[in-house]
Amino acid sequence: MKTLTLSGLDASKSLYKSYLPRIERLNKKNIQPGLAVILVGNNPASQVYVKSKSTRFHKMGLFSETFKYKENISEVQLLSKIEELNKNKKFHGILVQLPLPKHINSELVLNSIDPKKDVDGFHPYNLGCLAIGKPSFVPCTPKGVMRIFEHYNIKLSGKHVVIVGRSNIVGRPQSILTSLKGPYSNATTTLCHSGTKDLFNYTLMADIVILALGSPEFLSNENIKKGSIVIDVGINRVPDSNKKGYRLVGDADFSSMIGHASAITPVPGGIGPMTIAMLVENTIEAAENNG
Ligand code: NDP
Repeated sequence: MKTLTLSGLDASKSLYKSYLPRIERLNKKNIQPGLAVILVGNNPASQVYVKSKSTRFHKMGLFSETFKYKENISEVQLLSKIEELNKNKKFHGILVQLPLPKHINSELVLNSIDPKKDVDGFHPYNLGCLAIGKPSFVPCTPKGVMRIFEHYNIKLSGKHVVIVGRSNIVGRPQSILTSLKGPYSNATTTLCHSGTKDLFNYTLMADIVILALGSPEFLSNENIKKGSIVIDVGINRVPDSNKKGYRLVGDADFSSMIGHASAITPVPGGIGPMTIAMLVENTIEAAENNG
């Protein structure tokens, strides 16, 4: 069986092209979509993510500014910065890079972002809208997964989607999106997690498996039905003898899937680039709504 690689690089390229007329329309009204990014501490992965987000914004002619803080910033200081950014008209979107240090209540911080500027879609208002089937800002990673389906014309209606991982930023909103009524959703959806008994019984039943658990090469070809589709959200650093000292792998054992899955997203180059594209899209949307 031939296995199709579902490229997030290709899909995001065509999305970026589609955003250009929208950006142009905003520019004509003297609006430049702007994103404020808050980065706390020295987490190396967070630094890489923030850098690639701001590079993309600049490439697209959008505005982004990163506010960097030391690990020991207080919750009160962070909340007052967000309050200031909520009022600043230069910024249409605000993103707080996770994880935050343990002494800061992440939920409190995320809930303090004005839902109209919540381009990550993590505010309870936006998650609530999604849950009742009236999506406003949708979290970027699960939204990016849905756009991969659209780009490759993979229709989910009548299919069984099994998602592994139930975090509020990936797995749970993903399960809502795949089960909503709509042309590229409408799937029967099973949400698995660490409390699931005999997990592989579910992945073996699935037409489409979406992995978002953060466990390197967790799923192999033996755990899926032949011909199924694997969407690998996981990004894991594993030790390597290369210059960096690590390489990135997904939650799927990619090489074992070749010839067994009908399609799979690679890591890197799969859902990662789609996540950034959705952040750009949500920020443009925020500027259109509130510019
Ligand atoms: P979390 O750690 O918040 O959530 C992981 C989820 O997986 C939890 O629900 C957990 O269950 C479940 N889980 C963990 N181990 C197992 C297991 N052995 N069997 C079944 N379920 C398990 O992670 P995130 O959702 O934030 O991220 C998941 C992965 O996706 C990570 O690798 C992360 O780096 C990556 N990621 C990639 C992005 C991208 O742009 N491509 C963006 C965001 C994340 P329980 O709830 O019971 O603890």
